[in-house]
Amino acid sequence: MFDCIVVGAGPAGSTTAYKLAQQGHSVLLLEKHQLPRYKPCTGAIAPSVASWLDFDITPAIDQKLRRVRYTWQLGDPIEADLETDEPMWIVRREVFDQCLVDQALKAGVALKDGTSVVGIAFKDDGWTVQTEQGPYAGRYLVAADGADGPMAQWLGFNPEKVRQAYVLEIDLPAPLENPTMAFEFGLVKQGCLWNFPKRQRHSLAITRFLGDTLKNPKESLATYAQSLGSDLEAGQLYSHGLKLWNGNRPLHTQQALLVGEAAALVDPMTAEGIRPAIFSGLKAAVAIDRALGGDTLALAHYSETIHEEWGNDIQWSQRIANIFFRMPKIGYRVGIKRPTATKRLGQLLAGEIRYADLANRVIKRLSGSFLPGRET
Ligand SMILES: Cc1cc2nc3c(=O)[nH]c(=O)nc-3n(C[C@H](O)[C@H](O)[C@H](O)COP(=O)(O)OP(=O)(O)OC[C@H]3O[C@@H](n4cnc5c(N)ncnc54)[C@H](O)[C@@H]3O)c2cc1C
Repeated sequence: MFDCIVVGAGPAGSTTAYKLAQQGHSVLLLEKHQLPRYKPCTGAIAPSVASWLDFDITPAIDQKLRRVRYTWQLGDPIEADLETDEPMWIVRREVFDQCLVDQALKAGVALKDGTSVVGIAFKDDGWTVQTEQGPYAGRYLVAADGADGPMAQWLGFNPEKVRQAYVLEIDLPAPLENPTMAFEFGLVKQGCLWNFPKRQRHSLAITRFLGDTLKNPKESLATYAQSLGSDLEAGQLYSHGLKLWNGNRPLHTQQALLVGEAAALVDPMTAEGIRPAIFSGLKAAVAIDRALGGDTLALAHYSETIHEEWGNDIQWSQRIANIFFRMPKIGYRVGIKRPTATKRLGQLLAGEIRYADLANRVIKRLSGSFLPGRET
């Protein structure tokens, strides 16, 4: 029997597995795809994540970007630079995720890729995890199977809303000149389009942060691609679920934890999910190590830690998103157009400030502009 079985080899699962193996535990990492695998994602990572890890992730960085461009219905552009010491890191997920998997393997994790988990059952003080290739037994179980995985539901957690998001990857014949991160707010109701270019690739994405199903994502992406001098047909279109944070809730049950997007930890204002996936993976490994050592409260403590150190701040992001995406035109005018907006975004992602430090001022400013007739 393994000390722990981790389902899903994204950033959350690999980090959990790596840290547990490093502490001397036997770990099985199960992944349904053959690795390396692509994950639909624009791959922006705040460099602050590097300080949490005891190995070098910089070889997996494809591009570093400082310049940000915002538009409203492809017009009214604003450009600004992140003022942080280090620019934003942009990764290709098949490269970055494999870097984390390789580290887990070096630490002694057993990996079965191309192995889909099809069921779980608790018996004899441990979990039996059924796969298409047969069963595996583990004392503890970690659900790291992302937004589209089945584990949270199988473990008895209430279902979270899964939004649909799309990525259009357009490979380019030569490196981009002046690559710029870009956000377009006026073309999508209660959502946005964005582009985080790699060295030789545009990565365009679209989602709605509020409300229901995205209408005509393909048409919006085609319009956006055209504005960059490209077109939909030149690229590869992917879709994937997105589980935005929607309140603190327990993330533990009997000898099992949820991590990463399976735990719905994605920032509801920016769709940032890689950093919380790694953060929760680190905390989950600490909790399971303690639980294996006999601490009966360790898993409950994991839920509390994530609430205190992630959820309690991210609730402010949700409040800002609830106002901003309801009245995006006003949000664009009184929020995004402020010279300090990009500076604050950089500081947030660098971990220099938290949403709570900003929220009161931002919410006041946005709400103060919501006088009847102002949103046209
Ligand atoms: C369009 C889009 C753009 C995004 N852009 C960004 C961005 O720029 N920056 C950012 O920080 N975040 C971004 N995100 C969010 C980010 O991609 C995710 O939050 C992040 O990948 C979550 O990591 P994870 O390890 O929890 O799950 P994942 O990376 O989704 O990994 C889960 C793994 O579990 C596997 N799995 C699922 N079911 C099973 C099963 N039954 N058996 C075995 N394995 C299974 C999957 O194959 C997958 O490999 C974006 C998301 C979307 C949809």
